[in-house]
Amino acid sequence: MPPGPVARTLESLPLTEAHEDLRRGVREVCSRFPNQYWRSLDAERRYPEEFVAAMTEAGYLAALIPQEYGGMGLDLSAACAILEEVNRSGANAGPAHAQMYTMGTLLSHGSEGQKREYLPKVATGDLRLQAFAVTEPEAGTDTTSIRTTATLEGDHYLVNGRKIYISRVEQSDLMILLARTTSVEEVEKRSGGLSVFLVYLREAEGLTLRPRRVMMNNATSELVFENVQLPADAIVGEEGEGFRYVIDGMNAERILIAAECVGDGRWFVEKATERASEREVFGRSIGKNQGIQFPIARAYANVEAASLMVHKAASLFDRGEPCGAEANLAKLLAADASWEAANAALQTFGGYGFDAEYDVERKFRETRLYQVAPISTNLILSYVAEHVLGLPRSF
Ligand SMILES: Cc1cc2nc3c(=O)[nH]c(=O)nc-3n(C[C@H](O)[C@H](O)[C@H](O)COP(=O)(O)OP(=O)(O)OC[C@H]3O[C@@H](n4cnc5c(N)ncnc54)[C@H](O)[C@@H]3O)c2cc1C
Repeated sequence: MPPGPVARTLESLPLTEAHEDLRRGVREVCSRFPNQYWRSLDAERRYPEEFVAAMTEAGYLAALIPQEYGGMGLDLSAACAILEEVNRSGANAGPAHAQMYTMGTLLSHGSEGQKREYLPKVATGDLRLQAFAVTEPEAGTDTTSIRTTATLEGDHYLVNGRKIYISRVEQSDLMILLARTTSVEEVEKRSGGLSVFLVYLREAEGLTLRPRRVMMNNATSELVFENVQLPADAIVGEEGEGFRYVIDGMNAERILIAAECVGDGRWFVEKATERASEREVFGRSIGKNQGIQFPIARAYANVEAASLMVHKAASLFDRGEPCGAEANLAKLLAADASWEAANAALQTFGGYGFDAEYDVERKFRETRLYQVAPISTNLILSYVAEHVLGLPRSF
């Protein structure tokens, strides 16, 4: 499609020169993995090994790893640009993003020994850190109710419990784990007594994986820990402080996922615009009908607005300023905008929207996840109501 007004406006966000270069580079890698590649992976339920290897080789998956540990040493705004471009290309950054959003926990709270031992290998791709285990069947959204325990016995911790829907464990060498080290009865606040561990999966005897088939191509498993031994130095930071570490990291996670949603939203708007211009019914292009135009135009407006909130949240984060409200708002607005754009695209494609060959149905399923994970829309609204607007606590 020749660059029309929409295509030009989509490019006109206030990005720095560095981000434009970065985006171009990411687009080049993504162009080697066209929609056909993602379509066949989706059909086979296969992990995008080749894509992850190419992104690692180009350095992008080590964007947030400091240069002294072999990474690019970029900030969160740059990481957002990377993930947005991946999703905008028709790909799915999901299989590769955890290495970015777990980085804050490790960089801010990990020991120098842990960083020196693991980060250079994560940067080269010799080790993969793509798994982050928080959710449990009984606790669900209520993270402080998790029941997985890690008990210190001499020079090691013994881990017992279950986790559910933990992504990419099979494809990872390292996993960040949240477990209870002090029982709820013994702590002042429920958020106390939780600790974060860096688990070297290849040596985790007693850990069983049960793959779960979910709506999209996402390698997700239930994990069962039965007396899994972790060396005492696998703990990240201080014992009992894990909830705080994970919450800190969640701002980064929300902003990064929001950037992916913006990428999805842009992909849907571009696809829908292209289709509306090309498809002729009743002897004229369907895009001449305002019933087709308006939902796409509205979706475009909302993706653009969400993108500004993502930039704001990432900028605050990069300046070290509080960004809890903005990170949550970015995730809420971007997930809503991408979902709205997905629906507009599906409607514009009509029956073809349901046909795997047109990719809309695949991206539709992929972007739906972000209404629920890594945090559901309701929980964000509740955060905004209580912590931003000062309304009474509801749970
Ligand atoms: C494909 C996939 C991949 C995932 N990957 C990971 C991963 O890698 N690591 C990980 O730790 N987790 C992962 N998850 C889990 C995900 O983070 C959780 O599913 C999500 O946080 C919601 O938890 P839940 O499913 O237990 O829902 P529940 O807690 O059972 O909630 C169900 C619904 O009730 C709503 N609800 C609950 N309480 C309230 C309330 N007080 N007020 C209003 N509404 C409420 C929720 O918003 C939600 O819509 C993944 C999930 C999926 C589907």
